[in-house]
Amino acid sequence: MKPTAEPTTLTAASFGDLVREMIVRLGEDPNREGLTRTPGRVQHTMEFLTKGYKEDPGLLLKDALFTVSYDEMVIVKDVEMFSLCEHHLLPFFGKVHVAYIPNGKVIGLSKIPRLIDLFSRRLQIQERLTTQIAETIQRTIEPQGVGVVIEARHLCMMMRGVEKQHSAAVTSSMLGCFREEEETRNEFLSLIRNRANGV
Ligand code: ZN
Repeated sequence: MKPTAEPTTLTAASFGDLVREMIVRLGEDPNREGLTRTPGRVQHTMEFLTKGYKEDPGLLLKDALFTVSYDEMVIVKDVEMFSLCEHHLLPFFGKVHVAYIPNGKVIGLSKIPRLIDLFSRRLQIQERLTTQIAETIQRTIEPQGVGVVIEARHLCMMMRGVEKQHSAAVTSSMLGCFREEEETRNEFLSLIRNRANGV
């Protein structure tokens, strides 16, 4: 049998039509009162949750770089993160901790959570999200080193009973002195561990 023209058909359909079709295939009636506006809502929600594709990290950070002589560790911890797993399109969410040791330049503190949002609002896996945050900071201000740790819970695992309900997946990306110096890495890890609020 020849391959069908399905991809072309899918491209031609509107986002709303695709969601309607999904509702039908799940065995529901898309004309039922509670579902009539669902396709539009899903579209807007998904567009919001993936708007990071349209954002440029270089542009986000370019006006927020400052020259300093400070060379101690900068830590931004417990930043809330919500993302979508690319395997199931279900949320994973948790906390992100970022640290770096400057080498003449720092990033405005408020931009770190925005950088996290930018990469979270894409279809992601936790490992890639961690690396992208770390590598962007490394590339942008060329610090002595960067450390990023993410603790997250994945609804695709929790809702399907794949994982115990209270376990979190932890990923880390250590660059420069955070990778090379155990003391630096441990200082970062102990500073993010000393807190009452877990994931
Ligand atoms: Zn998943």
